[in-house]
Amino acid sequence: MKTIVIGGGIIGASVAYHLASRGADVTVLDGGKRGGIATVASFAWINSAPGNDRTYHEFRLKAILDWHRLQHELAASDRGTELPINWNGSLWWENTPEDVRSDTANLAGWGYPTEMINRDTALAQEPYLRNAPKEAALSSLEGSLSPVETALILLDEAVAQGAEILETTVDSVLQADGKISGVRTPDGDLPADVVVLAAGIATDQLAAPLGVTIPMDNSPGFLMQTAVTSPLIRGVTLSPGVHVRQNSDGRVVVGHDFGGGPPPDDPVTEAQSLLAETQKLFDDSDGLAVETWTLAQRPTPADGLPIIGPSQSVGGLYITVMHSGITLAAIVGRLATEEILGAGPVDILEPFRLTRFNQT
Ligand SMILES: Cc1cc2nc3c(=O)[nH]c(=O)nc-3n(C[C@H](O)[C@H](O)[C@H](O)COP(=O)(O)OP(=O)(O)OC[C@H]3O[C@@H](n4cnc5c(N)ncnc54)[C@H](O)[C@@H]3O)c2cc1C
Repeated sequence: MKTIVIGGGIIGASVAYHLASRGADVTVLDGGKRGGIATVASFAWINSAPGNDRTYHEFRLKAILDWHRLQHELAASDRGTELPINWNGSLWWENTPEDVRSDTANLAGWGYPTEMINRDTALAQEPYLRNAPKEAALSSLEGSLSPVETALILLDEAVAQGAEILETTVDSVLQADGKISGVRTPDGDLPADVVVLAAGIATDQLAAPLGVTIPMDNSPGFLMQTAVTSPLIRGVTLSPGVHVRQNSDGRVVVGHDFGGGPPPDDPVTEAQSLLAETQKLFDDSDGLAVETWTLAQRPTPADGLPIIGPSQSVGGLYITVMHSGITLAAIVGRLATEEILGAGPVDILEPFRLTRFNQT
């Protein structure tokens, strides 16, 4: 069985790695730079933050666990590969603490390791905070990762397990008699039995000519990145002004919100303002300097939940499109692989099927 994965962002990379490592014949096609589009521009916080219903929360909790599983799997492999994941948790506070308290109590009631902490504990979590909050929520299970580096590692691991990666754009997905037959590229047609759509915001456009409608509601997110600096921020820091974390390479990533702010009129001024807010937040941050900024659409299905699973109308078409793709990539790669390789439907994916939109 030949499988083509369209997209080399964090989702395509994870699906490709899991397929290849479980013996599948896989080719990844990506028409852009390896490492993705949304993935490159992501805040990359691994979490089950407040605001999700119980079913989705439980899925995200498993998703966090699955990053540990994947870290273990790769570290135990012949190559002893390390994933650049920071498991130092997240610290969250607001100017009015009531909402933080009630959200934290709700999540803690579901057994999520989050708790209200005092200033001393906040300072132990983030020693460089200039004005540590009197009260904050500490979610010790959470983490963040270096998104591009992680996607590239997973693609390399896929190749080490026999996958092929081609830098080419898919013009269209081909079907014959209601089944996938391959893809059309500028260099010609490539045959396939299964096509995995992991093309981020292009996923719906690739599916539409097959008669498969994927309702999306993407929104843009603007973030700033500093030049490499010495260790300043231990975990994810969610303050009332800015959300901040530090990549394993030393770059600090900042947004007014972790999901990124709206596209600014003047990105340079906006980046400088995010820098100034970060410097207000942390001691010893005078040397921070803007290196770049990112602006990308967040691939978001219309109801905000992921879409994962086979199309019911086109045999061999498998859809993986979502926001929170950083949090979810490890579990999606593992479970999608199980379904693609024919083990049958995985029950915890059922709430995330395309059929909930009355689409097939
Ligand atoms: C500002 C921002 C902040 C975010 N913060 C978080 C966060 O804190 N936590 C979290 O979990 N998630 C977060 N997300 C969401 C997360 O980053 C995305 O869900 C995830 O990166 C999606 O990965 P992907 O592989 O599906 O898409 P992408 O990274 O966009 O990759 C899709 C790939 O498909 C390729 N492609 C598209 N069309 C074709 C074609 N026709 N032929 C060949 N290749 C094609 C593209 O070149 C691209 O490489 C954030 C996103 C943004 C933008």
